Amino acid sequence: MIRVSAIRVALDTDFSDLVVLCEKKLKISRNKIISVKLAKKSVDARKKSDVHFIISLDIEANNEEKIIKTLKNASKYEPDEYSVPMVRKCGTRPVIVGFGPAGMFAALVLAMAGAKPIVLERGSDVDKRCMTVEEFQNGGKLDPECNVQFGEGGAGTFSDGKLTTGIKDSRIGWILCRLVEFGAPEEILYLAKPHIGTDKLRGVVKALREKVISLGGEVRFNSKFCGFEAENGILSAVSYTRGGETFILPADNLILATGHSARDTFELLHNERISLSQKSFSLGVRVEHLRADIDRAMYGSFAGHPALKSADYKLAVHLANGRTLYTFCMCPGGHVVAASSEEGRLAVNGMSFFPRDAENSNSALLVNVGPEDYGSDHPLAGMYFQRDLEEKAFIAGGSDYSAPASVLGDFMNGRVSENFGKVKPSYRPAVKFAAPEEYLPDFVCQSLKDGIKEMGKKIEGFDDSDTLLIGIESRSSSPVRIDRGDNLQSISLVGLYPCGEGAGYAGGIVSAAVDGMKCAEAVCRRMEGN
Ligand SMILES: Cc1cc2nc3c(=O)[nH]c(=O)nc-3n(C[C@H](O)[C@H](O)[C@H](O)COP(=O)(O)OP(=O)(O)OC[C@H]3O[C@@H](n4cnc5c(N)ncnc54)[C@H](O)[C@@H]3O)c2cc1C
Repeated sequence: MIRVSAIRVALDTDFSDLVVLCEKKLKISRNKIISVKLAKKSVDARKKSDVHFIISLDIEANNEEKIIKTLKNASKYEPDEYSVPMVRKCGTRPVIVGFGPAGMFAALVLAMAGAKPIVLERGSDVDKRCMTVEEFQNGGKLDPECNVQFGEGGAGTFSDGKLTTGIKDSRIGWILCRLVEFGAPEEILYLAKPHIGTDKLRGVVKALREKVISLGGEVRFNSKFCGFEAENGILSAVSYTRGGETFILPADNLILATGHSARDTFELLHNERISLSQKSFSLGVRVEHLRADIDRAMYGSFAGHPALKSADYKLAVHLANGRTLYTFCMCPGGHVVAASSEEGRLAVNGMSFFPRDAENSNSALLVNVGPEDYGSDHPLAGMYFQRDLEEKAFIAGGSDYSAPASVLGDFMNGRVSENFGKVKPSYRPAVKFAAPEEYLPDFVCQSLKDGIKEMGKKIEGFDDSDTLLIGIESRSSSPVRIDRGDNLQSISLVGLYPCGEGAGYAGGIVSAAVDGMKCAEAVCRRMEGN
């Protein structure tokens, strides 16, 4: 197979017949072509007067060597293959805590390996979870066990479902293929910036669960991990609560994939003397603009072209105070969502549906923070720092999970807003005008003021005075790392595999899934006595 890259095509290109495209663009006659597949597709909008696609094609053809010689950007190509390990010695069934992307892909690999894993998930299955979250977003009670952070699918279920990642790993292709097998759109296999959208993600998560169960695995919902037993530093059992009762599960292997918001679990591990360390994360607000304004700023007169999805952006500015202000987890045509998981504490995040056609576009606007800001060397100091600020945000929002909101023009002039401009908030249940200074540290507020101006020079209208700032974005990643060795096991307990974002080894859906697979492979090796 050969891959031909950097092929420039117009926005109105017909992708339904790639052989015709090969003939036209690459001058390869159709009788030489055996198969052709779209391998990569991205938007090139560097010149607003000339927005177009850049694609790569994977081609099987007769006489590939000759084609490679005649074409620029053509080379031999072998796709990554991933083979699932097999477990023959089925001792005690492995236990996985958490059914987010890390736990889900760990469960899938272990189930396909024949290990019949048992998954414990503190939240409900995705259908019940959607109802609980909807109730909360309509002004109902927060369920600390089932919310935007906790439940089937983990934190990623109510998200934009962006599958972009900064890591390179041969498992990623396999993960994307599985997601398509479970109902994600085919385009995630070739888009440079693939996303699924929360509406489609719900079905994908359920289908993955059914696959795990069909292979002998088990997923126990509303089951909260609450401890473990060990002999001479080696794991022997796991305990969990469900419906007010406590259960003990014999276990030699435990993959702990509990995410960045399982604060009670971090405290449990600390009390059990499991080695933890402080970790940096980022803090800020969600910034919201009209989608039309962002599309115009990014695509110029091509904005609204039927072949183009809503525009995304990625910005970072380094500031005089030594901090960096950057955008994160951008949700084009999306919503700002209530991402709280603890009573009396407020956090926001972003999500979108697959079409990305909501009125606004938003992203997290974050400043880096680290142990030097936490005020103590306690391993959980970063978590307490987060909690403290989320309490302030809860109060600033009126202590009913309304989010504190500020219109940029007012913030820049040190005023509390009284009216919205052209941008109306998408956050539910509601927002309340409050100055970011009421819940954010001064250095974060100053970094926002200095940085947004700089960002306005990079994207026209980014610092428009009607822009909305919604607080607080405090869960960009885990403030704690659960220390593990090269064998992926905790350095404090043999048989414990700290995994995914919460353990400090991943950031985002895809890298969490990769880490889940790595831990599952390590468990297979240990079960096989290797
Ligand atoms: C609103 C939102 C939008 C996001 N958008 C994106 C995006 O578009 N793209 C992207 O790449 N990333 C996104 N992220 C980040 C992404 O969701 C996380 O990086 C990813 O889900 C981490 O996966 P994980 O499996 O490590 O942990 P999580 O997904 O956090 O899963 C942990 C699971 O463990 C369970 N759990 C916790 N404690 C216990 C316990 N004691 N017992 C039993 N179960 C427990 C939780 O209920 C949860 O289901 C978003 C996050 C949020 C909140």
